[in-house]
Amino acid sequence: MLFCIHTFGCQMNENDSRLMAGLLISAGHRQVDNLEEADIAIINTCCVRESAENRALGYIGSLKKWKQENPHRIVVVCGCMIQKDGNSELLRKSYRHVGIIIGTFAAALLPRYIESYAATGERIIDVEERYDLPELCRGEELPVTVENGYRAQININYGCNNFCTYCIVPYVRGRERSRKPQEILAEIEQLAAIGVKEIQLLGQNVNSYGKDLADGSNFASLLTSVNDIAGIARIRYMTSHPRDFSRDLVETIAGLDKVCHHFHLPLQSGCNRILQQMNRAYRTEEYSEHLRNIRAFLPDATITTDIIVGFPGETEQDFVETLHYMQEARFDAAYTFLYSRRSGTPAAQMAEQVDESVKRQRLQRLMDVQNEISRSINERLVGSCMPVMLDGASKNNPHMLSGRTDGNKIVVFPAPTTAWQAGQIFPVQITEAQTWNLKGKILE
Ligand code: SF4
Repeated sequence: MLFCIHTFGCQMNENDSRLMAGLLISAGHRQVDNLEEADIAIINTCCVRESAENRALGYIGSLKKWKQENPHRIVVVCGCMIQKDGNSELLRKSYRHVGIIIGTFAAALLPRYIESYAATGERIIDVEERYDLPELCRGEELPVTVENGYRAQININYGCNNFCTYCIVPYVRGRERSRKPQEILAEIEQLAAIGVKEIQLLGQNVNSYGKDLADGSNFASLLTSVNDIAGIARIRYMTSHPRDFSRDLVETIAGLDKVCHHFHLPLQSGCNRILQQMNRAYRTEEYSEHLRNIRAFLPDATITTDIIVGFPGETEQDFVETLHYMQEARFDAAYTFLYSRRSGTPAAQMAEQVDESVKRQRLQRLMDVQNEISRSINERLVGSCMPVMLDGASKNNPHMLSGRTDGNKIVVFPAPTTAWQAGQIFPVQITEAQTWNLKGKILE
């Protein structure tokens, strides 16, 4: 049968969709981009933000007509939204055209469920939280599950044990569980054999990888093993958690030639009182220690972070502490977010919700400070030469190419006179700095 996947949400979800596609192709189905051609519509939902959940529900509702046009068509809804309280019941009662409803724990059973539904027409609902089923993995049809020819993402652990008070993930993705290193390494070897150059290791908290394994593996030992795989040129990972980040890890990375010198370490707030309210389990002093270690071992490292503005109870004084922290920390870039109330999380129940207009003003002040820092750090790179892995034509200017430095900075540069292909690494001299990216020229 022909299937079409519509994905909402983050990179983890995008990767899950690729894995499901691989499994279905291995089971004899074929993926299409156009829903009108498909026999099976798969909606991989996300509930991390309320807006993504509402958009997913709207889209699922719109498929009623698609199903009515041909009763043999199958509508599948999966992903973490299903695991959130009340949603599977809502779909069961009010979205009768949805034939298969599966949560995050049973996603690997999708091919089996499709076969069963196609044969009997009986609705399947599997949303139980359990840990006895196989995790979602790649099917045998590896090439089609790779994002593009040269970069692939690999899940190394699933779930989260941290329960940050603003986040729904631990409630919908379950407790932390790590994949066995042999499985991960075998998968990366296969990917390297089909030409993949860059590997991105994914987990809600990669730094706690291995804590649930009996063989003593940890994230540093996994990176060391991946570094030994021939054909792989760059290794990236996300997401790190400052609580489990360590000096040993930085020291290990400093000794590995393929692990990129980019540290994305979400700070979330520069105020200890708010960090405690967020249940982040570290203080700014510990976070600063991580920054010192990174800069001591890897002075060229790019360091980026995430900040949430307007967390419940955040006063002007708390916010100013964050601003000062940012000025001292001097991140290369910060992904800044307005706190958004997520039902089902403890923070949504907190009394002192910050006014939207105050949040927006604070966000702007934070961005003004950060943009200046980002630009001044980038300006210091002008004149230097760095290896850039080519992504392809620039989105904004098709006459230019775009790629990334080892530190994950985007560089735009004119195409070489010789043939080029995505995934190739060029020495590029930086000629101009902007806040968000760099311009350069290839040293031929
Ligand atoms: S570490 Fe915190 S923010 Fe990240 S997934 Fe876990 S609970 Fe959510």
